[in-house]
Amino acid sequence: MTTDAPLNEELTFCAVHPDRETSLRCNRCGRLMCAQCAVLTPVGYRCRECVRQQEDKFFTANQLDYLIIAAVCAGLGAVGAAIVSALNLFLILVLVAALPFGGAVGELALQAVSRRRGRYSGQVAAAAVALGGLAGAVAQVSVAFSQIAERAGRPAALPLEAALGAALSDLGLLLFVALAAAAVYSRFRMRI
Ligand SMILES: [Zn+2]
Ligand SMILES: [Zn+2]
Repeated sequence: MTTDAPLNEELTFCAVHPDRETSLRCNRCGRLMCAQCAVLTPVGYRCRECVRQQEDKFFTANQLDYLIIAAVCAGLGAVGAAIVSALNLFLILVLVAALPFGGAVGELALQAVSRRRGRYSGQVAAAAVALGGLAGAVAQVSVAFSQIAERAGRPAALPLEAALGAALSDLGLLLFVALAAAAVYSRFRMRI
């Protein structure tokens, strides 16, 4: 009776990949899943659908929150980058300042939306810091150029391409913006 057990055993397949044999089940919904479909969570193996549902409970941000996050991060990123662009600090100082600056911007943005996060809050915040930072640096370069031109008695405006080119060739500024964006992103990934 027991010798033919393997023959009687019915083969089971992944719910997503019908060609993959598996006996692993999601410990929440019971769905069969292959190694690729299974997600190891602190409470055991779960299917992607259940993991996503769990995450949706955590992600409570609404559309407006994304806008607020983008505005706060772009604004503060612009101010921070303009200061870095104007001061011409030593590279090491810029690098040391970038991470706490990004962390602080992330914290302020989180407070502005009552700590509600969305699935893409971190990405939105990082992109806003990067774009706002670049815009702030371009504005700073343009204003500085106009001031110098005015003092020289020949008022002139720097073309936008030239200002952008100047900002993009400032290695310290680029590193500052990139590190600040990374710090903002990781601040949003922290679950506090
Ligand atoms: Zn499941
Ligand atoms: Zn599968």
